[in-house]
Amino acid sequence: MAGEPQADCLFCKIVAGQIPATVVRETETTVAFRDINPQAPTHVLVIPKVHYADAASLVEAEPGVAADILREAGQVALDEKIVEHGYRVVFNTGSGAGQTVFHAHAHVLGGRGLQWPPG
Ligand code: C5P
Repeated sequence: MAGEPQADCLFCKIVAGQIPATVVRETETTVAFRDINPQAPTHVLVIPKVHYADAASLVEAEPGVAADILREAGQVALDEKIVEHGYRVVFNTGSGAGQTVFHAHAHVLGGRGLQWPPG
């Protein structure tokens, strides 16, 4: 069923506590944890506890949870003190854009200068 945990999903396993992660924030609907392969001094992933393959599927089915992801991304930025110098919230969507885990997630990146356009 839509939103249900998927047995073969890495991030569903992190939500269930079956795979370790360095969790920095958790709410009723979201988990935020440090990316295992950080691309910036702060690199935190914010994920919904429900399973949807990408951000577009999530917002279509559960817009309130999608809003929770954005709110939590902002809280992570405040907690990490990266707001003043600017930070980036990224949803890679599709393998052509670099998505490798097909459970919706926001990357929160900051703590260094960020170039535009991204690679
Ligand atoms: O946007 P993309 O799907 O590529 O992002 C997945 C992210 O999940 C990667 O940045 C990867 O380093 C991270 N990851 C993680 N912990 C894992 C597996 C992947 O933080 N156990």
